[in-house]
Amino acid sequence: MLDQIKGLHHVTSMAEDARTNNSFFTNTLGLRRVKKTVNFDAPDVYHLYYGDEIGTPGTVMTYFPFPQMPRGRAGTGEVGTTVFSVPQGSLGFWSDRLAALGVDGLKQEEAFGEKRLNFAGPDGDGFALVEVRDDPRASWTGGGISEDHAIRGFHSVAMRLRDNGATAELLKFMGYEELDRKDGVTRLIVPGSNGAGLIDLETMPNVNRAQQGAGSVHHVAFAVENREKQLEVRKALVDTGYHVTPVIDRDYFWAIYFRTPGGVLFEVATNEPGFDRDEDVAHLGEALKLPQQHKHLRPILESHLQKLED
Ligand code: ZN
Repeated sequence: MLDQIKGLHHVTSMAEDARTNNSFFTNTLGLRRVKKTVNFDAPDVYHLYYGDEIGTPGTVMTYFPFPQMPRGRAGTGEVGTTVFSVPQGSLGFWSDRLAALGVDGLKQEEAFGEKRLNFAGPDGDGFALVEVRDDPRASWTGGGISEDHAIRGFHSVAMRLRDNGATAELLKFMGYEELDRKDGVTRLIVPGSNGAGLIDLETMPNVNRAQQGAGSVHHVAFAVENREKQLEVRKALVDTGYHVTPVIDRDYFWAIYFRTPGGVLFEVATNEPGFDRDEDVAHLGEALKLPQQHKHLRPILESHLQKLED
C-alpha cells in the first residue's frame, strides 16, 4: 500500500462560458482565481484555476470553458459531486446567499453525521458545502466572504460507479482506508491528509454511463509532495498493470494520468512548484499566462479569448 498520496490536489471540470464560470467561482463562492492560462492541449481554450490565496493543493477547482459545449449527461463513471468544506454554523449564510443569487438545486441534508448544502454550478455541475468543525486551513477572504463563512478547500469528491469494488480496491492501494458505509455510499479517507482527505463512492448498478459535457468533471487529481514521490506512485501503478502516462509538465505541477476501472480519469499531481512560480502572490491569476510552447500564440489568444471581467 502506498503512503505518498495526501488527499485531493485539484478537480478539473468543463464549462460552457468562461465569464459566467469566472463570476460564479470568484463572486458567488468567493474563491480566488489563482491562474488564468490556457488548456495546454487546446490553447484556444482557457484553463482557469480557483482556490485559496495561493492555490494550495486540496483547494483548487479548475475549468476548461469550451464555448457552446453542450451540457453533460449525469451518469456513472464520473465524479458526481465536488464538495467544499465550510465552517461550522455557516450553512444558513450560504443557503440565503446562494438562493438570493439564483443558484439552482439548493437542498440541505445530513449525511455521515455532517450537515450539507447541495447546489448546482452554472452548467448543472454537482456541488455541495459541508460544515466541518475546526478545519485548520486558512480561507481566502479577498472575495468578500468573511472568515466565519468562507470555503476552506475541498472536503471530498463523490464518484458515481456501477460497481465500486475495483475503484475501492485501487483507492486502498493508493493509501485510502474505509471509514464508513451508509445507504449505498462507501466513505474512504487517507491518513495524514492535506484536509481534502475524503472520497465517497456511490454505487448505482442500474445507471448508464455519464456523457461528458459542460458541467461534468473531467478528472480528479491527487496530491503528492514532489516528483520523487510521484515516480514512486507511477512505478507502483505500472507494476500493478495500470496504463499511466509519462510525467507531463503542467508548469504549476507535474502530472501523470490514468483511467480507473470505474471509468473516472485520475491524475496524480505534485505540490511543487505551485502557482506563484511565474506571478507574485499579490497578483495571482490576473495576467494571461502561457506555457513556453504556446507563447508565440499570445497576440491571437489575447484577441480571441473571451474577456473574463469588464
Ligand atoms: Zn489536472
